Amino acid sequence: MTQKLILVLNCGSSSLKGAVLDNDSGDVLLSCLAEKLNLPDAFITFKFNGEKHKVDLSSQPNHTGAVEALMEEMKAHGLDSKIGAIGHRIVSGGELYSESILVDDEVMAGIEKCIPLAPLHNPAHLLGLRAAQSIFKDLPNVVVFDTAFHQTMPKHAYTYAVPQELYHKYGLRRYGAHGTSYRFVADETARFLGKDKKDLRMVICHLGNGASIAAVADGKCRDTSMGLTPLEGLVMGTRSGDIDPSVFSFLAENANMTIAQITDMLNKKSGLLGLSGLSNDCRTIEEEAAKGHEGAQLALDVFVYRLAKYIGSMAVAAGGLDALVFTGGIGENSELIRSKVLGYLGCLGLTEDHEANLAARFGNAGVITTADSKAVAVVIPTNEELMIAHDTARLSGL
Ligand code: AMP
Repeated sequence: MTQKLILVLNCGSSSLKGAVLDNDSGDVLLSCLAEKLNLPDAFITFKFNGEKHKVDLSSQPNHTGAVEALMEEMKAHGLDSKIGAIGHRIVSGGELYSESILVDDEVMAGIEKCIPLAPLHNPAHLLGLRAAQSIFKDLPNVVVFDTAFHQTMPKHAYTYAVPQELYHKYGLRRYGAHGTSYRFVADETARFLGKDKKDLRMVICHLGNGASIAAVADGKCRDTSMGLTPLEGLVMGTRSGDIDPSVFSFLAENANMTIAQITDMLNKKSGLLGLSGLSNDCRTIEEEAAKGHEGAQLALDVFVYRLAKYIGSMAVAAGGLDALVFTGGIGENSELIRSKVLGYLGCLGLTEDHEANLAARFGNAGVITTADSKAVAVVIPTNEELMIAHDTARLSGL
């Protein structure tokens, strides 16, 4: 075990996720989830040694209250004095940050400047950062941006075909997301395949409740499917992904919907949920499709087709395809989705190894294509928290 442990924080507007990690082994010693922050019945749940318990936060139902409760819990387990630094997940660093960075006043101001690009998340991250700074006074804080990995995209990949004054005035462009996961998975894929990542052209599919895909060549991001916001690209749990932008005027005129209503529908009521009319959860969709539910079957079909189509375009962006990588809750666990996607990819020379595909789940990495395939498809579990811990330890000099 390392002398110093890393605390990783991920703050949302009404939640705070935390984990105390050993940066060497990747072991999580303590984790927590605070919920309903800024409501009177806020609470935090701790998990230590496999046991969970809940602590009421109603006396201070905010991010500071949650971090204070976390400090108390760490003290109770003798962990507080072993923490060497704190790493924070930040949703948007815009064009300001292409790497993780040690926090100072200028960085706090930079995160604030990026609020228009992540209006729900960046303000919450700042609350978490300020709480950590005031409660863990002597510890360095490091910020790790979801957008940073995508900053290597070439201009032709991140530029939208709109009047360019909108980019210059408002920063309207593709930024992408899940960058910390892509960075971790790209490194792990190269390690797993025993190759240098500089020699690999990868297409990585991060398929969770939020889903995106990225082209990575020479270890760098060349393109990704999420855009200005996480709404663009693949079909997701509740997000539509790509859609004709004229849907806004069409629904305003024909369904009397407001911009806010349409935005809410596309983000929260679409995707697997909207298509199936049942659920945003891929497991439920698979179970119901197997029983013959038409909506669930349609949801699977649209999800898989969009993904396969995007894999083709990302292979172009990567300059070819050596490794197709599946990660995230769906990518790591759903042999059905992987099998259906590979069913479309014979044209790229990929053939599923069905037994290997069945075996690659529950956190197991594995190659899932036959030996004579022109590229390998692999399942590689992601670990964003560990990537944040690695950056935090490195930048804090631990
Ligand atoms: P994440 O957001 O990465 O936690 O992924 C959540 C998604 O993974 C949900 O849609 C789950 O239904 C899906 N998932 C988890 N396990 C399985 C599984 N065994 N088969 C299919 N989907 C799964």
